[in-house]
Parts: sequence; C-alpha cells; structure tokens
Amino acid sequence: MSEKIALYPGSFDPFHNGHLEIVERASKLFDEVVVAAVRNPQKSEPLFSMEERQLMIASSLSHLNNVRIVSVSTLVVNVARDVGATAIVRGLRAVSDFENELQMAQMNNRLSGIETVFVPTSSAHSFLASRLLREVARYGGDVTEMVPPPVAEALKIKFFETEMD
Ligand code: ADP
Repeated sequence: MSEKIALYPGSFDPFHNGHLEIVERASKLFDEVVVAAVRNPQKSEPLFSMEERQLMIASSLSHLNNVRIVSVSTLVVNVARDVGATAIVRGLRAVSDFENELQMAQMNNRLSGIETVFVPTSSAHSFLASRLLREVARYGGDVTEMVPPPVAEALKIKFFETEMD
C-alpha cells in the first residue's frame, strides 16, 4: 500500500503550541507529515522570514521522525502535488475558523481533487493565534508557555534587537 502523506500548510509566523499539537496528532494518523511554511502575500509585513520560520519549525519538531519541513511561495495544491500528499491537514480552533476553512477546502478540492482533514485543537490551545502572539511579544508580554522553546528564543532575540535599534 502506498504511503499516506499529509501536507500541513500555514503561515506559521510564528509557529506556536497550537500548531505543534496539530502536527503531533497528524504524525500519528499519517505515515509522513510535510509542514509547509507558506508565504502569504495577503498578510501584511511578516515578522519572521521564510528561512527563519523553516528553521524554527524544524527545531520545534526534532522529536518527530516522520515529519519534514519545507517553505514555499506557491499554491498549496501545487505543494500537495509535489510532495505526493494524500490529504491537506488544517487545525480548527472554533466555529469562526470553519467558514473560511470550508471554503478553502472546497476550492482546493475543486482545483486538484485533494481532500482536507480537519483536526480540532484541544481547549488548552484554542485561544492561540500567531497574530496575537506577535502583538503580545512585541510589547514585552511573556509567551514562553505558548510557543516551543526555539520560537520563544527567536522572539526574544527579534524584539531585543528591535529595542536596540
Ligand atoms: P494561515 O495563514 O494558513 O491561517 P496559520 O499559521 O495561522 O496560517 O495557521 C495554520 C493552520 O494552523 C491553520 O489550519 C489554522 O487553522 C491552524 N491553527 C492556527 N492556530 C491554531 C491553534 N491554536 N490550534 C490549532 N490549530 C491552529
């Protein structure tokens, strides 16, 4: 039987514990999970470069041996085809995520026939959002419990450097 490969795409700016939970759970459901940091031209000025995000995600997932990380600037369905994905995995926090996610899943299915699998987050992580974390960290709030250690370190460096400018 062929390998079941999941593609988990996102901006991951930055990668946080909600994302981590989804990858850990997907890694038990699929033979391989490809985490794709996707450049999203619709989102305003990113905090971390694509290279920084890829490195941070790789360090945060080094305990999982069936996960690989890529960074891309193309359509998610193209990445799915290139990596031979069986399905796209997306995390769901709340009903508010659902409408947009459903529309994206239907569009991706129409474009390429690929299925999307939704993984509901645990309540412990459902409040986490990269946008909020960026704001809290920017103003000196402590987010160390909400992100993997390599991301906490990178945030500290990023905002310390900004303060020194
Ligand atoms: P995007 O730009 O694709 O929305 P994100 O990095 O915000 O990128 O999210 C990537 C994926 O992770 C999406 O499927 C999103 O629903 C999911 N996600 C975001 N935050 C959480 C969370 N706290 N718990 C579980 N899944 C999450």
